[in-house]
Amino acid sequence: MACFVGVYGMGVMGQSLALNISHHHYTLAVYNRDGDKTREFMQNKVQETDQITPSYSLKDFVAALERPRKIILMVKAGTVVDLVTDGLLSYLEEGDIVIDAGNSFYKDTERRMKHYAEKGIKFFGMGVSGGEKGALLGPSIMPSGNRDVFNDHLKQLLKDIAAHTTTGDSCCDYIGKGGSGHYVKMVHNGIEYGDMQIINEAYFMLKNACGFSNAQIADVFEDWNRGRLQSYLVEITSKILRVKDPCGTGELVDAILDEAGQKGTGMWTAMDALEKHQCVPTMCEAVFARNLSAQKDERVYAAREFGKQAEGQNLSPKILQEEISTFVTDLEQAVYASKIMSYAQGFSLLQAASDTYQWNLDLGNIALLWREGCIIRAVFLERIKRAYDEGKVVNLMLTDEFKDEIKSSVAAWRRVVIAGIAAGLYVPTIANSLLYFDGYTSEKLPANLCQAQRDWFGAHTFKRVDKPRDESFHHIWEQM
Ligand code: NAP
Repeated sequence: MACFVGVYGMGVMGQSLALNISHHHYTLAVYNRDGDKTREFMQNKVQETDQITPSYSLKDFVAALERPRKIILMVKAGTVVDLVTDGLLSYLEEGDIVIDAGNSFYKDTERRMKHYAEKGIKFFGMGVSGGEKGALLGPSIMPSGNRDVFNDHLKQLLKDIAAHTTTGDSCCDYIGKGGSGHYVKMVHNGIEYGDMQIINEAYFMLKNACGFSNAQIADVFEDWNRGRLQSYLVEITSKILRVKDPCGTGELVDAILDEAGQKGTGMWTAMDALEKHQCVPTMCEAVFARNLSAQKDERVYAAREFGKQAEGQNLSPKILQEEISTFVTDLEQAVYASKIMSYAQGFSLLQAASDTYQWNLDLGNIALLWREGCIIRAVFLERIKRAYDEGKVVNLMLTDEFKDEIKSSVAAWRRVVIAGIAAGLYVPTIANSLLYFDGYTSEKLPANLCQAQRDWFGAHTFKRVDKPRDESFHHIWEQM
């Protein structure tokens, strides 16, 4: 009997996704260019009850599938997706469906959709979030492409294998046309960078401004995880801080080199926001923070040059003992307000992309898709949906859902940023989230002077406060 779906790519994600599909009682064929990986997978991971057909040639793989063929690619992003899809072409027929489930750049997905449509292939982009475990147990899935094809051939499968909330909602829904699925996944990753860096800075302040031990910091995060900051990332952070180093040095976290890695989706988000003239400082600063962390040797040298503490020594606490409890309460407010700003920026970016490409994104619904299965899962996302249910959202910070909470957090947030900066600690996302708030809520900014400067040196013109906005003026600032 022909298989319902095929999975191409037996790497970390492909294997987990294949098992997930099988556990939902769909028949599937699997293929990997290196057949040994498929053999190992079949021998070590697949049970007798799994209805998985291994294929060792592209011809057999495609032949094993029912028509129209549905092939999920779980391969390395980039040119590999083109190579792999081109390789499949000679075996596919008009109307067959290829779904790229890797972390592809959305503009590549748009290009591929057009290119393969000319050859009769329905190409889909599909953001998948949740890592190896998510792929196995239920990820958050963000597919985009032709809506009718999605409804007729993919909807049931993808909704079934996605994560489900406690109320039974699937964390998969049709996102829109074109590369919107990969775009939404990209911004999800940008938001993930922001969430992680905000938490990292809270840890850094508790450690270096309050002088807390890892266990004390873990207690703080555990406490926060019982409240409005409840999230997967806060939860794993509290657990990470208690893990002992197998080499016996104390907690493992202290033995890990402070150089952060990255695979590029945060950078893509930042670059795309710049291209769309959007303001997303929390996400950009989170990318910069990883970049700066990677300049370890330079930082060690500079720390010594400027008389900061050498590596391995704890900085002396900067907050007075009697003020620590207030500071921790303030910090929770600062973290929460920064998180709201980060999501406000991310969702504004999604709105800008939706407007630019006429994707008609349902942003409240997208927030719901991230409630389970993905790295940024949090109770907070339900609130974003409620904010969108209020009506048109210009910026999340202006919604009734968040406005009062932000107002009541501002004083504490400022105290935290001042304390962090006074202690000489690098807290860019918490500080720049506050600056974003201050900028966005400023009726007047110094851009009038900027326009005067531009007009002086480049005759770029300016608008006047006392004239209609569609009129431009130029002044002769000095005689040549
Ligand atoms: P992986 O374990 O490194 O597997 C990569 C797969 O791509 C392998 O099956 C590999 O085949 C195949 N491949 C590489 N070059 C190829 C080529 N030239 N021709 C044919 N196949 C080729 O990667 P992964 O973690 O599963 O990630 C797969 C995709 O999911 C990536 O786009 C990644 O960004 C995305 N993703 C990953 C995660 C995660 O947490 N890992 C989460 C979300 C999304 P061989 O075995 O023959 O080399």
